[in-house]
Parts: sequence; C-alpha cells; structure tokens
Amino acid sequence: MDNIYKQFDIDDDVFEFVKNTEDTLKDRFLKADEICEYNQLKVIKAMQDAKLAEAHFNPTTGYGYNDIGRDTLEKIYANVFNTEDALVRAQITCGTHALSIALAANLRPGDELLSISGKPYDTLEEVIGIRESNGSLKEFGITYSQVDLLADGSFDKDGIKKAINEKTKVIAIQRSKGYQTRKTLSPYDIGDVIKFVKEINKDLIVMVDNCYGEFVNLHEPSDFGADMTVGSLIKNPGGGLAPVGGYIVGTKKCIENCAYRLTSPGLGKEVGPSLGVTKDFIQGLFMAPNVVNAALKGAILLANVYEKLGFRVVPDSKEDRFDIIQAIDFNKPEGLIEFCRGIQSAAVVDSFVVPEPWAMPGYDSDVIMAAGAFVSGSSIELSADGPLRPDYTAYYQGGLTFNHAKLGVLLTLQKLKNANIVKLS
Ligand SMILES: *Cc1c(COP(=O)(O)O)cnc(C)c1O
Repeated sequence: MDNIYKQFDIDDDVFEFVKNTEDTLKDRFLKADEICEYNQLKVIKAMQDAKLAEAHFNPTTGYGYNDIGRDTLEKIYANVFNTEDALVRAQITCGTHALSIALAANLRPGDELLSISGKPYDTLEEVIGIRESNGSLKEFGITYSQVDLLADGSFDKDGIKKAINEKTKVIAIQRSKGYQTRKTLSPYDIGDVIKFVKEINKDLIVMVDNCYGEFVNLHEPSDFGADMTVGSLIKNPGGGLAPVGGYIVGTKKCIENCAYRLTSPGLGKEVGPSLGVTKDFIQGLFMAPNVVNAALKGAILLANVYEKLGFRVVPDSKEDRFDIIQAIDFNKPEGLIEFCRGIQSAAVVDSFVVPEPWAMPGYDSDVIMAAGAFVSGSSIELSADGPLRPDYTAYYQGGLTFNHAKLGVLLTLQKLKNANIVKLS
C-alpha cells in the first residue's frame, strides 16, 4: 500500500503518522456513516416524492418559461429542506449572491438587519455596507447592527433581546465559522434561538447562512423554522457536480420576494432557463450526502493529525461537527503557506502550480488559496485557504472522496516536514 504513496514522495514516517491516526478513528467514522445513510435516503425520498423523471433533464434556453425540470429541482430542494418553496438557479452565481438576494429581497428602506452570530462572512461586509461599497444595503437606507456570540460560542440572548427594535426586520445567523476561529453553530442551537427570536416578535424574518453545513447533521436549520436557509451549490449540496449556482429555501413569501429580486418584479420564478444544468444539479444533490461524508472524514483525520502535533485545531479532535470546515492555527505565515501548497500538490487539476497569497476581491487582507478543482473555485472539492493575518489560520475543506482527502492530509504534512515546521520524531 505505501508503495503507491512513495510515488507522491511521501516519506515512511509521514505515512505511518497519518495511518496510525486514522486507525484510531473507526468509531467516529461509523457515526458519520450513519448520518450519511439517513441523509442519502432523505434525498432519494425527496426525488421520488417530486416524481423526478428523465424528461426533467431536458435543457431550456431564452426565457425558460415552463421549465419543468427547473421546477422539479426546486420542488426537490423544498422537500429535502422541509420548506414551502425553493429558489435553485444557475443564475445565482455563488453563495454571496444568494445571501445578497435573500437580504435585499426582504429588506426595505428604513428596515434594520441584525446579525446575531457576530461579524458575518467577509464578502457580506460589502453587501451590507459594513465596508463602504457601491450598491450596498446601507446605500438604500437599510441599517445594520450586530450581537456577538458569547465567549463560549453560544448566542447572547440578553444582547439579542436588547438589540431587537421596531426597525428590526431580518435576523441573520451564520452557521459556519467563515474566516474566524469561533465554533460553528449547530442546527439545534440555531433552532433554539429561532424559537427565542420568534417569541420576541413572530414577524421577524430569520435567515441562516448554511454554507458548508448541508448534510453534516440529521437536520438543517430549515427544519427548525428558519424563514430562509441559504447556500452555494459549489459547496456541499452540489455534490461536486453542480458547475455553478446557489439555493434559497424557505417560506413561500420570502422565496417569492427572492425570485422578484433575482429576475424582476412581476416575472419572479417564471423565467430563468436551466441551460442544461438540471441533471448536474439533481445528480449532485443525490451524491451530496456521501461527498459530505468523505469531506467530513478528511476533516476529522486532519484535526487529529495536527492536534497530535501540537497545533490548535477548531473543531478539536473529538468535538461534534456542524460543518465540513477544519481550521488549523499555524501562528506564522510559512506554516499556512506550506499547508496550502501541500493541498495544491494533492489536486487532480493544476497539481503542478504553486499557490501564492494575493489580494482577492471581497476580502480585506491577502488570501492564499489552494484549489485544483474540476469546477473552478469549488470548495466541496479538496481545498484550503486562509487570510494572511494572525493567527495564520488555514481553513481546510472538501474532498469528493475520502481517499483524496487523505492524500491531501499526507501531502500537507510532508510539505511542513520538508520546511522544518513540524518534526515527527
Ligand atoms: C463560502 C461562504 C459564503 C460565500 O460563498 P461564495 O460562494 O464564496 O460567494 C458565505 N458564507 C459562508 C459562511 C461561506 O462559507
């Protein structure tokens, strides 16, 4: 077995270290497999209930009127997420776009947006206007306020109660940590705070940024009354097959507003050609529970390897998981950079390129990204990135198969060993 790893220039001690770690994780992996099985069956049932048929894979062009495949895809998403309606489109270009639509569609001038999970994801700062930006919600007279999570990572209910005022219209919650080292929020804790918020005012609209969280647990935030649950199709629910896209699932009213915002008032969901991507969207969703399972096992392996070597990892080696992200603090730029180069060298596409930090649009410090993906920028595929700022944290995610994720873990360790950043004996 280790012969084939030699072809990747992996030393015996690196291989043994990872192998020995993996051998201790059998029970963890078994638990993940049970969640995967449940979610796979949930997805199959959703497709059967929507009466998915071969004709639904036919493409439409132009306006896309009467695209039965697109409508069936949206029915399937609504079934999976247990919501009244869904908007799942190739015309939603990414997760940020989906979140931007959800917010702009449901807020009006004079309304206030309240984030109750602290600072939102970097790219949303410009959507909201936390960082000045052309076309932000702020420019349209929509104000923003924020309640940080408590030191233990839980919701600050007193703070939330105080922050809600007569202007508050939408409550935003971000499940995953983004480029922070806080804990990821569980769908169960999110459900609990939704109940709390609705008791204060049942008309408040709760939007959950579900990026990277789909199919990690038995439930989604939409099972617990989130009015909108939002994510990217080049992350978990696209299963590696969706070439583009975003989704918003939720109440009929909210989704209608989103459709009017995405296309045009009056047109809404009626227009938007599927351009031949329907099969990839649906097959990707079918694959997603098992792809997420592979990514999750990779993240668990990575956490256990690097924790053993003395690095701070979030989540730690034993914690329950609510997304597929693994953060590792390297505390110096070289560690983060070598780690990302290791992931890049494990890629199938562009394995021979060497990533360098650069100023990416939407981010306020240089970022290094390792991504050799079939779908450009896809982070359900094996990938890692991190902003070049203390604690020089690498954010690792993805892997369409566990075998590939494991190769990624091995090659990061090899690069760090070669650079004398870790010592194995
Ligand atoms: C990835 C991500 C986004 C933005 O998605 P893009 O597809 O990169 O625009 C938003 N929120 C969180 C938590 C994310 O992980």
